[in-house]
Amino acid sequence: MQRAREPVRSICCIGAGYVGGPTCAIIACQNPNIQVTVVDLDQARIDAWKSDHLPIFEPGLRDVVQFARDEQSGGREGFRPPNLFFSTDIDCAIASADLIFIAVNTPTKLVGQGAGSASDLAYVEAAARRIAEVSTSDKIVVQKSTVPCGTAQTLRHIFASVAQNTDVNFEILSNPEFLAEGTAIRDLLSPDRILIGSNTDSRALQAAERLADVYAAWVPRERILTVNCWSSELSKLAANCMLAQRISSINSLSAICEVTGANIDQVAQAVGQDTRIGSKMLRASAGFGGSCFKKDVLCLVHIAESYNLHEVALYWRRIVDINEYSKARFAKRIIQSLHNTLDRKKIAILGWAYKKDTGDTRESAAINVAGQLIAENAHVAVYDPEVRPDQIISDLTPHHNTDTLAKRVSIYKNPYSACEGASAVVILTEWDEFKTDGLPSPVANGLDKEVLEVRLVSIPRRTSEGSRGSSESSWVKHDC
Ligand code: NAD
Repeated sequence: MQRAREPVRSICCIGAGYVGGPTCAIIACQNPNIQVTVVDLDQARIDAWKSDHLPIFEPGLRDVVQFARDEQSGGREGFRPPNLFFSTDIDCAIASADLIFIAVNTPTKLVGQGAGSASDLAYVEAAARRIAEVSTSDKIVVQKSTVPCGTAQTLRHIFASVAQNTDVNFEILSNPEFLAEGTAIRDLLSPDRILIGSNTDSRALQAAERLADVYAAWVPRERILTVNCWSSELSKLAANCMLAQRISSINSLSAICEVTGANIDQVAQAVGQDTRIGSKMLRASAGFGGSCFKKDVLCLVHIAESYNLHEVALYWRRIVDINEYSKARFAKRIIQSLHNTLDRKKIAILGWAYKKDTGDTRESAAINVAGQLIAENAHVAVYDPEVRPDQIISDLTPHHNTDTLAKRVSIYKNPYSACEGASAVVILTEWDEFKTDGLPSPVANGLDKEVLEVRLVSIPRRTSEGSRGSSESSWVKHDC
């Protein structure tokens, strides 16, 4: 008779960010017998995870965190002891875990680049070295960060060199995360697939099965795919690159619409109804943002370049180039619509996050577009329902001096005040509250429904009385 697999009892996740926090909250909710500890170097982030003010905004996240983190008594569940913990005691969490996720950031490397850019694996390496140094029992190490092909192999070398004097066995798996911010909880609860990359020897395969058992608590087995590590690592990059490619494709078509008189929404609908193409992610925009798409495309370009696949590198590089072009074109269109001068004109910017239902502003198109408007002497009035004012200012600070920001940026706590007296309203995040049918006048009345690609409108110079909210003036007049 085959011996039952040893179940995973204790998980440590290194990195309490947009991936580590939500993923571990769901794993803990679905596996009450597994103790899950999420660790980070950042004390403030860990304190926030332990509090009622989580460090990231994500629909549904608070409920799942509270369910697993706080003791539950009563209700259908009866008494449920907490099994989700947050800590900065990284060594202790590593020592007591039998499975460790690495979910740290893998930003673009800033030096020595060609058309592509390698990922900076310094944080991954630091996490791996720490695991190798403090472990006194066998570990399954699961690489969850998005990394270039070959990283699992690199980690094996690191473990072999750092931990050479111990009898501890490290099995390295790849398990990239496919969640999208804004829908993370839904994506985690009902993933299209769980991808596990593993070597083919029996120990590695057994480790992969033990990881699969963790997910099988709620994910149907047929959605859990086991592949080799290279395929797993490349599949994550490929998925993000193809999504980015789709956005650049529709944005390039919108440029053609503008000069020919075709309507991009009509084109997108017609094209999207082709079942081979599908209708998702076909909305023209100012360009993609977020911490992943650009970095992952540049990483793929770098991989292609390093294998002398120059034509392939060039092909993927154009996705990023078109995205930069889209942001510039968007700002240019605003400037042209306002008679080629923004001097002393107020432009309302509705939305600062890189997409709806997140407070994340990394690489948000709004930063770039606002920067171009400020450079033309516009006064930008920003409203976003989730992004903090200090975040908006810190996003702009690298590109503008503090005097300019104080004179040219104000941040509002309701959209109507931001729009008051504005020469144009620019919607840069598709928050539901900005949808045309959700907006009372004056904003909705001013929307030119024919100009959908750039949601740029001239609105009457009158107050927002009668609209939701008060006619209060600027919430934060920055005196930075
Ligand atoms: P993040 O920046 O939000 O979080 C990473 C965390 O790791 C930070 O809090 C940082 O302090 C911590 N960290 C770094 N080095 C550490 C160390 N040695 N020890 C302990 N903590 C350490 O990043 P994220 O958005 O969660 O992304 C993590 C990875 O997942 C990246 O590779 C990213 O490409 C990938 N990914 C992100 C998303 C997304 O939507 N954000 C989706 C899928 C995959």
